[in-house]
Amino acid sequence: MKYGRTFNFSAGPAMMPEPVLEEIRDEMMNYRGSGMCVMEMSHRSKVFQQIVDEAEADLRELMNIPDNYKVLFIQGGGTLQFAMVAMNLMKNGKAVYIETGAWSKKAIAEAKKYGEVIIGASSKDKNFSYIPDCSDLDIPEDTDYVYICENETINGVTWNTLPNTKGHVLVSDQSSMFLSKPCNVADYGLIWAGVQKNVGPAGMAVVIIREDLIRGDLDPKTPIYMMYKTHADAGSMYNTPNCWAIYCCGKVFKYLKKLGGLEAMNQINVDKASVLYDFLDNSKFFKAAVVKEDRSLMNVPFVSPSAEQDAEVVKATKAAGFDNLKGHKSVGGLRASIDNAMPKEGVEARVDFLKKY
Ligand SMILES: *Cc1c(COP(=O)(O)O)cnc(C)c1O
Repeated sequence: MKYGRTFNFSAGPAMMPEPVLEEIRDEMMNYRGSGMCVMEMSHRSKVFQQIVDEAEADLRELMNIPDNYKVLFIQGGGTLQFAMVAMNLMKNGKAVYIETGAWSKKAIAEAKKYGEVIIGASSKDKNFSYIPDCSDLDIPEDTDYVYICENETINGVTWNTLPNTKGHVLVSDQSSMFLSKPCNVADYGLIWAGVQKNVGPAGMAVVIIREDLIRGDLDPKTPIYMMYKTHADAGSMYNTPNCWAIYCCGKVFKYLKKLGGLEAMNQINVDKASVLYDFLDNSKFFKAAVVKEDRSLMNVPFVSPSAEQDAEVVKATKAAGFDNLKGHKSVGGLRASIDNAMPKEGVEARVDFLKKY
């Protein structure tokens, strides 16, 4: 790898595309003749306004976002959205959540503070190794929304068929799969994603929300920052936004467009993930943790015959120059996160190494 860089299999913050990092480096001391780094620039300046406008326009083009959806850049990473979704969308105080792993569990715990949470379906019985059938859920009429975590970063399951919400609003946490494949935005009321998994630096979430879901009549104690309306009315510039993250994400949007858009990205991700899954399925030593139909293209949890051997593999791979292979502390085992920017050579090199076992 160039610059002595490592193949970093972390779930997030994750690898960034090298051409993007090089562009950022080249613009570091003086952004396009402004005499400043983007970090030093007023967020109210014309130069920065153009950066935000282009980032939004490029994202709209990439995802083909309909005009009746707002794109918001909000600080607080992914976790703040657990509360924001419930605070803003629970009009009747009732929502259906699908429990598929660690991140939907966190969302459920947070939403319970604001209203009634109905667990529409769960895969807890088999250690979150599959996506439950959600073709015929029992959804009360006055349910405000149905919530899913579309790719469970820790458990490695992903939704290939969205739940049948029977006309109710669908809310999706796309953090660890954002921009990894084409997405029909009109299927959702709200999509949100913490950007550090697949797009940019940590500390920001992108929220794509249908306009009719943006309300001003919230609990008067709702912090102003936590109302989607605040961000929508101010073009994500109510206060100083995460300028740096917006700038870097904007670069990644342009990079993805040049690559051929989300179809092209998906093809690369499918190719890449199959190298790893094919290896795991043919290995006598390692085993993939998730059923075939629901496997994530981004996060691949697997195990060796024992926890001791898992630890040995982690140690050996680290010595060989592959970083962050340990499974999440809550589930153990091993995990390879192969987000958008992980090159196929990284996966191949790693599989070659694992073949020794
Ligand atoms: C990482 C992650 C989050 C939390 O993001 P933070 O920015 O760390 O708060 C939420 N959901 C999913 C699916 C994630 O992978």
